[in-house]
This record gives sequence, structure tokens and C-alpha cells, in this order.
Amino acid sequence: MSTTSWTEPAQFIGGRYQDGSGTEQLVVAEPASGATLTSFPAATAEDVDRAVHAARLAFPQWAGAGPAERAGAIGRLATELHHVAEELAVTETRQAGKPIKLSREFDVPGSIDNVAFFAATARHLEGKAAGEYSPDHTSSIRREPIGVVGSIAPWNYPLQMAVWKILPAIAAGNTIVLKPSELTPLTSLMLAEAATRADIPAGVVNIVTGPGLTAGQALVSHDDVDMVSFTGSTQVGLSIARAAAGKRLHLELGGKAPFLVFDDADLEAAVHGAVAGALINTGQDCTAATRAYIQRPLFEQFLSHTADLMASVRLGDPLDPGTDQGPLIHAAQQQRVAGFVDRARAAGAKILHGGSAPGGHLAHAPYYRPTLVTGVPQDSEIVQSEIFGPVLVVLPFDTDEEGLALANDTPYGLAASAWTTDVYRAQLATRELQAGCVWINDHVPIISEMPHGGYKASGYGKDMSTYAFDEYTNVKHVMSDITGTARKDWHRTVFGDRPS
Ligand code: NAD
Repeated sequence: MSTTSWTEPAQFIGGRYQDGSGTEQLVVAEPASGATLTSFPAATAEDVDRAVHAARLAFPQWAGAGPAERAGAIGRLATELHHVAEELAVTETRQAGKPIKLSREFDVPGSIDNVAFFAATARHLEGKAAGEYSPDHTSSIRREPIGVVGSIAPWNYPLQMAVWKILPAIAAGNTIVLKPSELTPLTSLMLAEAATRADIPAGVVNIVTGPGLTAGQALVSHDDVDMVSFTGSTQVGLSIARAAAGKRLHLELGGKAPFLVFDDADLEAAVHGAVAGALINTGQDCTAATRAYIQRPLFEQFLSHTADLMASVRLGDPLDPGTDQGPLIHAAQQQRVAGFVDRARAAGAKILHGGSAPGGHLAHAPYYRPTLVTGVPQDSEIVQSEIFGPVLVVLPFDTDEEGLALANDTPYGLAASAWTTDVYRAQLATRELQAGCVWINDHVPIISEMPHGGYKASGYGKDMSTYAFDEYTNVKHVMSDITGTARKDWHRTVFGDRPS
């Protein structure tokens, strides 16, 4: 595909591009310019059914392939992605509006590293040691693929989310149908195309592109889908849990990460960490720092330094390497972000930076300025709800216990960070913070070897790392009699007496 136009159809089924059969025409547009990148007929339930069928047909051969064969194919996929890394980065930036430096230095290399990681670990699916846990039997564990996985992904990190869903599933021997967000399907399609070039058999990786309410619902409720794996908002995740009742389920949902700064912290590190953690991907990041709690002695300094650093952030064309922050994904998201800030302002919040859309040449697109808010109560919606925009709320606390309690006081539990130079405080925070990931003196970095997933309303199950194999495999206990006796001692609990 060219980096300037997309000419392929938007369904990838059974190893090739196909047209969707829907009459509804979907448009993929650049958030920054509004220009159309492509439009295509949406997938219908019929297209989803074809994709599930292709995945089912491919399953026995792929599940039966040896780990070395699967690892080899996935390794070739990593190489294919390397070859098109720049096209992936440009396409990601154009469809999602994210700064090109983020696509080039984080999204694309991180995704390729994750593919390479699963090429290596496909050969290391572990079970616990075999042994005689009963004196009369040898027990062993088999890890087996589940079957056809139906996955749904969001728009904020389109390629990374597709990789996080697809790779552990296929490395474990499953086949998959992924529905990316209808707003950002292009890099998921390029990933499937690369899988075909890597000789991953047709039908192992399928992509259907359509709206959640039609194509998404058809996928998660399909009778021949054995497992549903979803990344997206908590609200949609809950509706998917209902639609997928009876299937194996993995949910990666929303977040509202706290950023807890104790009074012994390195202030400069905390300020830089907060601005980067809050504004990454224009704040459209499930782990973004959204609520900073600052111990009273550092509170005023933290606010003024953070406002100063936010003022240095350059908004602009996401394709320009000098741009720090691009637009939000669309106008509705811009209005949603502005709504949170405007309602907080009306209720008495202090807006210390931002709090509006920029004017001038950026006024035509859904940009929103980096925004720093304080003076709001802990139970206000701007503290409690996921905004998904470049907004950082900062509140003071006095005792360590109070800070930890405030940090845990939302329905979410995806990520959190604590900032301190005191090893005891750091250890206490790692124990007390209720989140699937806790950073100490940093916020945001992830790594393929380590798991990502939530507590509480942020979902359950893990992406990345070998922990993801727990989601995508069935664990089978095999128990073999080693006595060779026909009359076993335990039979007397059902009939007769103890054998003499
Ligand atoms: P969303 O929940 O609106 O949509 C996610 C996906 O679900 C899209 O593909 C959409 O088409 C589909 N969908 C929507 N309604 C559906 C339905 N009824 N049935 C089936 N599918 C349906 O989320 P979004 O706006 O695309 O992404 C932002 C959200 O994703 C945020 O809440 C963010 O925190 C979350 N997120 C979480 C993680 C994580 O790892 N926990 C990672 C990235 C994003």
C-alpha cells in the first residue's frame, strides 16, 4: 500500500483482501486534516461468519503445527513488519492523528518487538512438572489452544492493540478474527497482509472491519467463536461480557491512573513524568497519568512547574517530526474533553493551563490544549471518570495513608505510579496501590516480557508476556494410573469393601 492512499478493500479473510457485503459505507479520515484516507463497505454479520469459518478451517493444521513451525512463521512476520516499518508509522499517524515521532519510536518498534517476543516464546509454552501427586498416578499438564478467538480492538494504538490481541493467540496455536476500530483499521490490515507474506497459513489471521454494534456484536456472539478478547472502554466491555456469555473472556478496559508524589520525591523528575504521562498520545492512553496527588510541601511548586512545562508542548501537524501533540481522534472526542473541563470550571475548578481548543490554523481540527486543573473535589466527575484527553487534575494530600487512599478511590485499576526517593515508601506504595501495573519514579513504559492488564473496572486477564498464554490456552490435567490394578482401593467408596 502507498502511504498516501489506501486502495485495498477493508476485509482480510482467508489470506486475502475482500470487500465487505454491507451497504453502509465507512470512511477512514485523517483527524488532523479531515481528508478521507479510504472508504469501504462495512463488514456485515455475513462477512464475520465467513471470517470465522476461515479461522475454523485453518485451526486444526495451525494447532497441530509444532512450536518450531509456528515460531518460525511468527519470526518471519517480525521481519516483514521491519521492512514496512516506515509505512506503518506514517499510516498510523495519518489514521489516528498521533505525532509521527510517537509512531516511529514507540508504536511501531514496540509492536515489532512484541511480535519477535512471541516468536521466541511460542517454543516455551509451559506446564508444571509431571509427577506422582497421588502414589498411584502420574499427573501431567497439557496446554492446548482454545480454538477460534474473536478479538475487538480500540483506535488509540491501532497496530499495538492488534499485535497484543493477535500474537499471543496465534503463538499458542489458536486462529483469530480481529475487528479493529472502524476509525483506524489500516495498520491491522497491513499486519494481516504481512502475515500472509510471512507464510502464516491463510485463515490463521483474519480482519473484519465494521462498526461495533453490527460487526462487533456479530463476532462476539458468534456460535463458532470459542473465546472473546476485548480491549476498549469499560462500558462496551460490560455489554460484550453479556453478549459473549458462556465463552472464555478476556477484558482490557478503561483506566484513570493516579500519579502519587510524596514529599521526598525528585520534583523535576515528577513534573517531567507527569507532563509526559498525561499528554502521551494526546492523553488518549488507558494508562495515562490523569490524577496527580501531591504531598502538601511540594504542591504549589509542582503546579507552577507543570504549567510551565505544559506551555512548552508544541501542537501541530502530526506528520511534522517537531510536533509534540496532535489532535484528538474526532470532533466528538474534543467536545467530550471540553465538556469535562467546562463543567469543572463552572463548578469552581481552577484551570492553570489550557482549558480550551487552540485557535489559528489548528481551529479547523479537533485539537485541545494541554490542560491543568486543580481545586476540584475527589468525588467530582473530572477526578472519577475516564476523560481520554490531555487533561491532568492535581490535588494535594497530607499523610501517606491519605495519598494512597485517594489514589485507590476510583472504580478503575489499570495503572498507577508513585514518586519517592524513600525505599520504604516505594515498597508500601507497590503493595497498596490497586492496579495491574505500578511504576516507581516513572509512568507509561511497557515491555514485551511483562504483563499488561487491569484490576477492578479495568478488566481482567493479561496482554503481553508469557502471562498472556494463560488467557489463550486451556490447561488440561492428564492423570495416568501407574498401578495396573483392575480393582482400585477407592472403588469401595462406590461398591463393595476394601479389597483384601
Ligand atoms: P470503545 O469501547 O468505544 O470501542 C472499542 C472497540 O469496540 C471498537 O472496535 C468498537 O467498534 C467496538 N465496539 C463498540 N461497541 C461494541 C459492541 N456493542 N459490541 C462489540 N464491539 C463494540 O473504545 P474506544 O473508544 O475505541 O477506545 C478507547 C477506550 O479503550 C478507552 O476506554 C481506553 O481506556 C480503552 N483502552 C484500554 C486498553 C487496555 O489495555 N486496558 C488499551 C487501549 C484502550
